[in-house]
Amino acid sequence: MERKTAWEIWDDNIKKEALNFCEGYKEFLSENKTERRFVKGCLGIASGFNVKSLNDYKKLKTGDIFYKTNKEKVLLMGRIGEKPLTDGCRFIVSHIDSPRLDLKTNPLYEDENICLLKTYYYGGIKKYQWLTIPLAMYGTVILKDGTRKDIVIGEKETDPAFNITDLLPHLGKDQAKKTIEDGFPGENLNIILGSIPLKGKEKEKTKENVLKILYERWGIKEDDFISSEFQFVPAGKMRDSGIDNSMLLGYGQDDRVCAYTSMKAFFDSKSTYTVFCVMVDQEEIGSKGATSAQSEFLKYVVEEVIEKTGGMPSDFKVVIQNSKAISADVDTIFDPNYKDVADPRNTARLGCGVVLTKITGGRGKGHSIEPTAEYIAYIRDIFDKNGVIWQTGEIGKIEQGGGGTVATYIARYNVDTVDCGTGVLSMHAPYELTSKADVYSTYLAYKSFYSAEK
Ligand code: MN
Ligand code: MN
Repeated sequence: MERKTAWEIWDDNIKKEALNFCEGYKEFLSENKTERRFVKGCLGIASGFNVKSLNDYKKLKTGDIFYKTNKEKVLLMGRIGEKPLTDGCRFIVSHIDSPRLDLKTNPLYEDENICLLKTYYYGGIKKYQWLTIPLAMYGTVILKDGTRKDIVIGEKETDPAFNITDLLPHLGKDQAKKTIEDGFPGENLNIILGSIPLKGKEKEKTKENVLKILYERWGIKEDDFISSEFQFVPAGKMRDSGIDNSMLLGYGQDDRVCAYTSMKAFFDSKSTYTVFCVMVDQEEIGSKGATSAQSEFLKYVVEEVIEKTGGMPSDFKVVIQNSKAISADVDTIFDPNYKDVADPRNTARLGCGVVLTKITGGRGKGHSIEPTAEYIAYIRDIFDKNGVIWQTGEIGKIEQGGGGTVATYIARYNVDTVDCGTGVLSMHAPYELTSKADVYSTYLAYKSFYSAEK
């Protein structure tokens, strides 16, 4: 299959639209680096589109747009179409959690007059990539009395940034002989928090000083870390990349690129079907919890929507089985530096459009959802009719590894589901790289899916 880049196919007008679209994307991802913030950011955009909380609707009619959140970390938005719900709905499901460094339950300690925080990495990271880079701290702390404290430090230029040290090369002889896994143990990913000792204290003087600051500024005591969520992420904004400004370099594009583009597509499309834009949490750690794709949240909300449009909760089975879904997640891009891991005939290329992934997982198609030929035909027809630049992809060679998405948790309701999203270079690194052409193609693909009349 010959691939041309979108840059070669698009005229100047659409190129301009794409570049313009990516300005909004850059800003949004720079502002919203945690699930809670992403949900809040989306609701900010939603407020411009007459979107109301589902709780505020007694009855739903054609054209009504609603949202429902789950523990501030999951967002579901929907719009009622002209067609009855039992004709099926359209779902695009993405995830808004990204690999990062969380804190351990009891993280604070002092060593060699330095106060440090023990981290627990979240998701699959290459640990060495997270050393020595400036990190920003995002915290939500619930104090003993229930008071909530939200903390952001490290994003403003005047803020301090945080950091994990690495060994200097001069003394790296033994480290260099180790495997990457052994050379960078998770227990070494400790963030330096402070280095001034508190006068008048006998021991752990630096830790005491940090605790004094935490208490004076936010009323936080050491045991309040137990009821906190702290995330450390790369500090700073997403920026353009390349001398031609064709790419985007920044944190959290897996999978907020698909979340952002699906949200924009949701608001910019007209649909005859009832459509849903769903953003879930916990994908990077296996989708096990209440805010994950495996939670019953989605089912309960769809049942509520069915009831509020005059149906019965038992209609859920008919509604869901007649529905169609896109599991909106990123795929890999063929990397000229690492050609060995990918099949050149089946790996997506940078700039060649949104990626349709038939086979996820690895080895004997382990964990794949096997969309039918009929459903793939349906999707490619929609994309072609709407001039969407798209390509197929897969996550590496058969026996190289592989990856999963939330597709399994949608497909199990007996919904036609396929993986489709943006290609990413350096996936799960602190700074991931995408093509602006691919980001915009993803938006156009999702918009065509929401707008399809059949
Ligand atoms: Mn993902
Ligand atoms: Mn991922």
